[in-house]
Amino acid sequence: MTNTIFGTAVNCMDGRVQIPICNWLRSQYGVDYVDMITEPGPVRFLAEDEDPWVSASIRRRLEISVNRHKSELVAIAGHHDCAGNPVPEETQLKQIVAAIKTVKGWNFKVRAIGLWVNENWEVQEVD
Ligand SMILES: [Zn+2]
Repeated sequence: MTNTIFGTAVNCMDGRVQIPICNWLRSQYGVDYVDMITEPGPVRFLAEDEDPWVSASIRRRLEISVNRHKSELVAIAGHHDCAGNPVPEETQLKQIVAAIKTVKGWNFKVRAIGLWVNENWEVQEVD
């Protein structure tokens, strides 16, 4: 475990996005493993905080990833054709930006980035 590098993803539960997000983070950020925190359309919850219990649950899991696995990177991901967050891409991209703000407000020592998985299941970084 000594030199194992963990990253973290707040990702949809959708089975189509697990491998793309994991592979992308491994290749682009050099992490060995990705702790996967999944909910149906998590960016919606983090952008709007419509269900504080869900946000608190995500936060609790991120805390374990950061404190125990020493993750220094958290990716917040949305994707095409999301059943849990069936809104247009433009809306999801705005939610991702708002979600990053929410996660940064938790003040973990972690870099937060946004990712979008497009209709070809390719991963793109969100500015
Ligand atoms: Zn989804």
